Amino acid sequence: MSGRLSGKTAFITAAGHGIGRAAALAMAREGARVFATDVNADALSSLAAEQTGIETFTLDVLKPDEIAQAPARVGATPNILFNCAGYVHNGTLLETTEEWWDFSFDLNVKSQFRVMKAFLPLMLEAGGGSIINMASVASSVKGVPNRAVYSATKAAVIGLTKSVAADYVGRGIRCNAICPGTVDTPSLNERMRALGDYEAARKAFIARQPMGRLATADEIAPLIVYLASDEAHFVTGQIHIIDGGWAM
Ligand code: NAD
Repeated sequence: MSGRLSGKTAFITAAGHGIGRAAALAMAREGARVFATDVNADALSSLAAEQTGIETFTLDVLKPDEIAQAPARVGATPNILFNCAGYVHNGTLLETTEEWWDFSFDLNVKSQFRVMKAFLPLMLEAGGGSIINMASVASSVKGVPNRAVYSATKAAVIGLTKSVAADYVGRGIRCNAICPGTVDTPSLNERMRALGDYEAARKAFIARQPMGRLATADEIAPLIVYLASDEAHFVTGQIHIIDGGWAM
């Protein structure tokens, strides 16, 4: 299949729903061979059924052994890594326990460290590739209420991204972070339900977006495809904000 990612292989975490799923579909439509992983096997089955070019296996990014085995399961060197997995903890600093702090850093940051460690040697050997790490506008970009540990993890993702970009810029590796605003995904809807009054929570999330609406995951995917593609050959070490003007 011809397309902007034709001939490339991609590896994605948390591709079962939301932004990861939209990115997997968009990459496959652009001709990439996509290895989509997630903890949710049912979501992966429906993803593979939706679009050709997508191969799947379950992978829990909290399990170091599963990440270490991922390159062997892929069996090819990816040109593209998309570290999408992440969890949004709701709370101020005083409401954040040690347990939530550790869980959030493990899932949002350490998983990316582990995935990059697993695949980077192969990518270097192959002459390079593009790594895209999921951060958020809620981070070092913008202070957002009730996101103490979440913002800290996403700021850490930005630091890790810049560090990888700086270390490997001379060896063909590009590493960028994306910072979406509020995106209408299953986990966002779960969070809105968890707040007690779904309609009020949805209104509040929409109100903080200056365009008066949430993004769809399909609006985020083209930025990921661009960063993965050769069109972005001169782009590395940057944060890419896609937030409907939230942080302007
Ligand atoms: P989503 O709920 O739509 O999808 C999350 C997926 O992650 C699910 O398929 C789930 O099964 C999978 N998952 C959960 N735990 C996992 C684990 N341990 N290992 C592997 N997979 C796991 O989520 P989303 O809203 O698209 O968020 C994806 C990423 O985007 C996250 O890192 C999130 O922080 C970031 N983000 C989201 C928004 C937003 O508003 N939705 C904004 C900015 C950044």
